[in-house]
Amino acid sequence: MSLLVVGSVAFDAIETPFGKTDKIVGGAASYIALASSYFTKGSNLVAVVGEDFPNEFIEHLNKHGVNTEGLQIKKGEKSFFWSGKYHTDMNSRDTLVTELNVLGDFDPIVPEAYQDCEFLMLGNLTPKVQQTVIERLHKRPRLIVMDTMNFWMEIALDDLKQTLKMVDVLTINDEEARLLSGEYSLVKAAAKIQAMGPKFLIIKKGENGALLFHGKEVFFAPALPLEEVFDPTGAGDTFAGGFIGYLAKTGDISFENMKNAIIYGSAMASFCVEKFGTERIIDLSQEELDHRINQFKQLVRFNMGANLASGN
Ligand code: AMP
Repeated sequence: MSLLVVGSVAFDAIETPFGKTDKIVGGAASYIALASSYFTKGSNLVAVVGEDFPNEFIEHLNKHGVNTEGLQIKKGEKSFFWSGKYHTDMNSRDTLVTELNVLGDFDPIVPEAYQDCEFLMLGNLTPKVQQTVIERLHKRPRLIVMDTMNFWMEIALDDLKQTLKMVDVLTINDEEARLLSGEYSLVKAAAKIQAMGPKFLIIKKGENGALLFHGKEVFFAPALPLEEVFDPTGAGDTFAGGFIGYLAKTGDISFENMKNAIIYGSAMASFCVEKFGTERIIDLSQEELDHRINQFKQLVRFNMGANLASGN
């Protein structure tokens, strides 16, 4: 089923305890488009880059079946640039640089061919632009998933709250959930955030997994314990790509199926962190993916039926 992906396509410079990169390709929509392509082909991308952006990566996206007709390339301008440095525990990072460049005045034009979209993934981007995309779709998609970050909570909270009213699922990390709600308890935070609009809320907790809230229901998916987390950049976006890609593939947007989608999202994210940038998710095989899903199943499988029956 048709998926529209919107978000930043960018350059990143990353520093982790394992090493440092120069400018490499990143951006929320890059990760989302790649991750979702393992589940649903023919997704449509709306984004903007400058003249400095490598054509090679656009060709990679096309090879993955991502339609880039809606990717604007601005002559004489520079792509969005973000730089971050991770702390030793890899669960927290400092943003060193955010240069909006082409994102500063991004007008998200939605090509006519994208209009039949049933699933919309609003990757991290100015909330106003996310809202504009929803408004420009002639028909509301069946499911709108939105990601955002602390940066927008700090500089565009009113716009963010407006956009939140228009979406079905919000994905944020635990720190951001606390910042947005003013509540330390994630259960209280989830209730407050759901009251702002999204009926489903995913709170990502890095290596501690992810929680899915819907009304009084809650589901927890662990993250796969990995020997080495090399670079967490894009893990959240890759998670979102796997999540919405799986939903678009199955066409089932029930809470029950979202539980499966979260496991697929977590599996995709576990690949992403194994190398710098998009390197690890650019060329995954079906075998690797199947194997990882199996590892997730083993991780959470237990059987207490016998003990329960004997009253222990
Ligand atoms: P994540 O690690 O999942 O939070 O996503 C990291 C990606 O988000 C990087 O590739 C950045 O290019 C992108 N990013 C960082 N800050 C912003 C921002 N303010 N707007 C849009 N994208 C951003």
